[in-house]
Amino acid sequence: MTFQYWDKNKECISREDLEAQQLKALKETVGRALLTPFYKERLGGVGITSADDIESVSDISKIPFTTKDDLRAAFPYGMLASPLDEVVRMHASSGTTGIPTVIYLSRQDVARWADYVARCIYGTGCTKSDVFQNMITYGLFTGGLGFHYGAEEVGMMVIPSGSGNTTKQFKLMKDFGTTVVHATPSFLLHVQSKMEEEGVDPRSLKLKKAFAGAEPYSEDTRRKIEAMLGIDVYNSYGLSEMNGPGVAFECQAKDGMHVWEDGYLTEIVDRDTLKPLPAGETGEIVFTILCRTATPILRYRTRDLSSFYTEPCVCGRTHRRLRRITGRTDDMLIINGVNVFPSQIEEVVMAMKEVGNNYLIVVEKDGSLDKLTVKVEVGSSIFADDARPLNALKEKIRKTLQASITINPRVELHQGGALPVSEGKAKRVHDTRPKDV
Ligand code: AMP
Ligand code: ZN
Repeated sequence: MTFQYWDKNKECISREDLEAQQLKALKETVGRALLTPFYKERLGGVGITSADDIESVSDISKIPFTTKDDLRAAFPYGMLASPLDEVVRMHASSGTTGIPTVIYLSRQDVARWADYVARCIYGTGCTKSDVFQNMITYGLFTGGLGFHYGAEEVGMMVIPSGSGNTTKQFKLMKDFGTTVVHATPSFLLHVQSKMEEEGVDPRSLKLKKAFAGAEPYSEDTRRKIEAMLGIDVYNSYGLSEMNGPGVAFECQAKDGMHVWEDGYLTEIVDRDTLKPLPAGETGEIVFTILCRTATPILRYRTRDLSSFYTEPCVCGRTHRRLRRITGRTDDMLIINGVNVFPSQIEEVVMAMKEVGNNYLIVVEKDGSLDKLTVKVEVGSSIFADDARPLNALKEKIRKTLQASITINPRVELHQGGALPVSEGKAKRVHDTRPKDV
């Protein structure tokens, strides 16, 4: 196999040169971080008051971790390191409650992000002759614009189709000769089943590749999508706090995701002690972003579990490879690619005076897609002959939830005492999706 590199010097850099670059970038990033109220205090607390207090990459261990809650506490501008007039973009992701986590990018930050995404895309063998359909949510979510800019950087024609609207998606594929798509794995499976339903043969299309990410999936799911659509599927991993897509991606070898260590200093730590683990062991991924000036984030605890490969990749890239994400250390649910914390749902339902004291969150598969149902207990007076107040309340809960979590749940109302009560710690989430990772 001949491998294709977007920037071979950067991708196949010696580990020694990489470390020298990382040190320089880490010092710069710490210097930027010290400009923010949040890190000035946090770093000051451990005696780091200047970039010169970092003398080697291993000094990273002196820096305290940053969590999603820290980002929420700094909302909206506590982690901004640039004057607003240098910022050209913001993105946001859900927080553990209604407050999202926000990142800001300068013009140069956007360009560097696009370059990392281009590196990922080009590394799968795509070229500017490809036609790329971006079947993922645009907007505050980073997957839409992140891939859009990266694909344009490669020079591909981008069809910004966004997510959903399945029938229109394959009409676009047919009309414009789409060769590459980006989507969540569950949406790819959904597209395939719709094609089958409507008698569209995927092999009659020009489709060759898909980038699938934003949610966990197994090797079996990848193979299933590949066999059904007759394409190659590449795993794409990223998170909004680290810009979004472009953090780690599979190369043509399709065996683990190269994490771009010149942009993202990566540690894997024990999920309980938070101490660095020996290479190859599974733990929580911790990132320090080295390629962004407007929002430096140091030692961010992703809550994602993975491990490093210890062998080098056949492609010759020197950036280490991460295994498929095997789970999370918190209770965040990923529903059709959208992050939802049970606490966000609790906050909405418990704030409603009509709601009793028990509720249940049910997540299940509906075909290839995920379905969310929120069951809540309400006072029995509402279950009268006239269904109107009941339906109005249901609709009110559904709308408020949708406004908070951005996905549209089904809402079921139950009489007080009807929902299961667990002994001991309440079990409010019933996730019946197969765990096949
Ligand atoms: P967001 O901040 O909305 O982009 O969500 C990021 C989270 O989505 C990550 O922390 C992971 O939990 C999950 N995620 C993204 N890509 C993948 C992937 N390829 N495999 C498994 N989980 C993923
Ligand atoms: Zn490789």
